[in-house]
Amino acid sequence: MKPAAFDYARPKEWSEAVKLVGAGARAGAGTQSLGPLLNLRLSQPSTIADLRHLPNYAGVIVAGGVLRIGAGTTHAAIEDGAVPGRIGEIMAAVARRIAYRPVRNRGTIGGSLAHADPAADWVAVLPALGGTAIAFGPNGERRLPLTGFVLGIFETALAPDELLRAVEVPVLPATAKWGHWKFCRKVGEFSKATACVLSVPGAKPRAVLAALDGPPLVIEDASALLADPVREASRVVATVEGLSPWRRSVAETALRHAVEGAA
Ligand SMILES: Cc1cc2nc3c(=O)[nH]c(=O)nc-3n(C[C@H](O)[C@H](O)[C@H](O)COP(=O)(O)OP(=O)(O)OC[C@H]3O[C@@H](n4cnc5c(N)ncnc54)[C@H](O)[C@@H]3O)c2cc1C
Repeated sequence: MKPAAFDYARPKEWSEAVKLVGAGARAGAGTQSLGPLLNLRLSQPSTIADLRHLPNYAGVIVAGGVLRIGAGTTHAAIEDGAVPGRIGEIMAAVARRIAYRPVRNRGTIGGSLAHADPAADWVAVLPALGGTAIAFGPNGERRLPLTGFVLGIFETALAPDELLRAVEVPVLPATAKWGHWKFCRKVGEFSKATACVLSVPGAKPRAVLAALDGPPLVIEDASALLADPVREASRVVATVEGLSPWRRSVAETALRHAVEGAA
């Protein structure tokens, strides 16, 4: 099937893009998810606002202990080292395992978050890293913690007239330990259970369990999980409703492997 006819807009300023979206246009980034939605006619916008020509849409800026990553930064750029330091190593390893290189060449970190597929990698990983979403709307920028950004399946905390402009992640010390484990039935497929653990000396360890058909489950203090992964993984997974037995088992395994990775 082919998309229904739509107008194509190429805003050059964020304020112009926000006006278009506020008037009902659909934002377009790498179109790796939007393309199929259009082709299947699950989305039939009258206008697509192509974000790729906006100022500072892609790229990484380091300032004051924080890395600001433009929403249009592709998974491939992150894989190739666009993000410096320890957090860059962690993010490159995550990016490398998103889909296939052709998808990573076009798919963007902002598009992935805004799309809010519960199984998407950045949806799981960025809350674990303590990231912040930078939204841009008619009143300028708004900061939203990524722990509460994805509200449900394909649902985010962005207002209908807001765009995701960037994400911010903290600079991490070289001693930060990271564990990330996801279960895909075959290489390049979306995950059926993802877990991440971040342990930074002097701070409480944080963990995330995700890809379970709902928003990510963020464990702000994962000390108990690190102390007794088998018992705590089982307790945490039992709090997630509606999982089949095999999914529970895979989710527990994901949490245990993520703890091992961060050990
Ligand atoms: C075959 C295949 C396999 C994949 N496997 C994986 C995988 O294993 N893991 C994974 O995480 N992802 C996977 N993906 C998804 C891919 O990683 C893309 O990141 C994701 O599709 C969205 O990014 P995009 O830039 O292409 O956004 P688009 O497809 O252009 O947009 C997606 C949605 O977000 C909105 N949007 C885009 N940018 C913004 C913005 N800045 N502000 C507000 N709204 C915005 C659009 O309006 C649209 O609703 C896969 C995709 C394909 C095609």
